[in-house]
Amino acid sequence: MSELSRYSAWSIARRGLSGARWRRAWRAAEPRKSYDVVIIGGGGHGLATAYYLAANHGITNVAVLERGYLGSGNVGRNTTLVRSNYQLPGNTEFFEHSLKLWEGLSHELNYNVMLSQRGQLVLAHGPGQFDVLARKGNTMRLNGIDAELLEREDVQRLVPFLDYSSHCRFPIYGGLFQPRAGTVRHDAVAWGYARAADHLGVDLIENCEVTGFVRDGDRVTGVETSRGVINAGRTVLSVAGHSSHLTRLLNWRLPIESHLLQAFVTESIKPFLDHVISFGADLYYISQSDRGGMVFGGHIDGFNSYTQRGQLPKVQTVAECAIALMPGMSRLRVLRHWGGIQDMTPDGSPFMGRTPFRDLYLNAGWCYQGFKATPATGWCMAHTIAHEEEHPLIRHLGVDRFERGNGHDEYGLGLWTYKQ
Ligand SMILES: Cc1cc2nc3c(=O)[nH]c(=O)nc-3n(C[C@H](O)[C@H](O)[C@H](O)COP(=O)(O)OP(=O)(O)OC[C@H]3O[C@@H](n4cnc5c(N)ncnc54)[C@H](O)[C@@H]3O)c2cc1C
Repeated sequence: MSELSRYSAWSIARRGLSGARWRRAWRAAEPRKSYDVVIIGGGGHGLATAYYLAANHGITNVAVLERGYLGSGNVGRNTTLVRSNYQLPGNTEFFEHSLKLWEGLSHELNYNVMLSQRGQLVLAHGPGQFDVLARKGNTMRLNGIDAELLEREDVQRLVPFLDYSSHCRFPIYGGLFQPRAGTVRHDAVAWGYARAADHLGVDLIENCEVTGFVRDGDRVTGVETSRGVINAGRTVLSVAGHSSHLTRLLNWRLPIESHLLQAFVTESIKPFLDHVISFGADLYYISQSDRGGMVFGGHIDGFNSYTQRGQLPKVQTVAECAIALMPGMSRLRVLRHWGGIQDMTPDGSPFMGRTPFRDLYLNAGWCYQGFKATPATGWCMAHTIAHEEEHPLIRHLGVDRFERGNGHDEYGLGLWTYKQ
């Protein structure tokens, strides 16, 4: 990156004085005939994989193919929550690695991703749930991860405006707090990785839909796209909710169901919610955006779908949770709600690594948790592609794990404790 194209107070001052204009953040690359690595999907995961291939492994002859515009998928639709409060071996280390990468990401990318470590509080509404949270907190602390178990009085001091009344439907018993958890500005993540990958020579090709695969027996040697055939030494599938669409082109059926997940934002109000709060009586969580809107979400819609329009019954459930937890929410108007397609696996954990097809790599099945995983996914997928062997942090996430009886069932959450 040249001195002038780096973002800094110094470059703002120089441009201000000289009148020089800012360059585009990344080139509008045209597809070439072949690449060492072709990544399908210009979401957070595809872009992070491209960046770490170039930055960590010196592999720069890489293209990211995106059928729409970069960041038009779930990376720009999520509720921006990042945390590492996981319990199962494998998940604990992977998500903590991701949180550590988040902590240095703005400097690494020279792009402000607006990490806000405001802390996440998961609530318990009874002694059983509190025990589950204590066990999780102990696991986290044994792994060097920050966790604080809070009694009801501590919770009330931290977040006084929840419903603590004697007649409330779900009395608050206590909670588990992770101070380093928080939020990250999701669009900035896509833009930051895109700009940094482009600077290292990666071609980012927008409006380029992959419509088929080129094969030589069981080896994938390239892709057919809306902009012609592109040959690839290695191909990476990183298309979030559309993974099974693409593997169907290879007659390969993934154990994935696709569902809609909705999110909501209210009108802006003065800052009052300093943390991310997760309800313990259903899957519901809430934070306040920098603009003052209350951002919240719940469960997936309960049937398979590729529509990106939310269904009203889920809106009702989420509104019920909002008011049960924080009765004052009933006075706010919801400005927008939107949806994204989630690929759900049977055990709630993703699939990462090599596939039954030679030179084809899969990163899919992220359920509710793919945003917080973005840096670690890119890091580990890049290592796996460069070394043709799974990174130690993702060895438990192979797509063949059910055949081996090694399901990894954490329900993808850490948001909520009912299922565990
Ligand atoms: C409402 C909502 C809230 C969420 N909240 C959180 C949260 O708070 N925390 C968290 O950790 N996770 C959250 N998630 C999950 C998270 O957003 C996803 O798991 C993650 O973004 C998926 O990875 P990605 O960013 O690469 O996906 P995407 O951004 O969806 O990238 C995939 C890309 O592939 C492209 N593509 C698809 N098919 C093709 C094709 N044939 N050819 C070329 N390109 C193609 C798509 O256009 C898309 O841009 C949420 C998801 C939703 C929907």
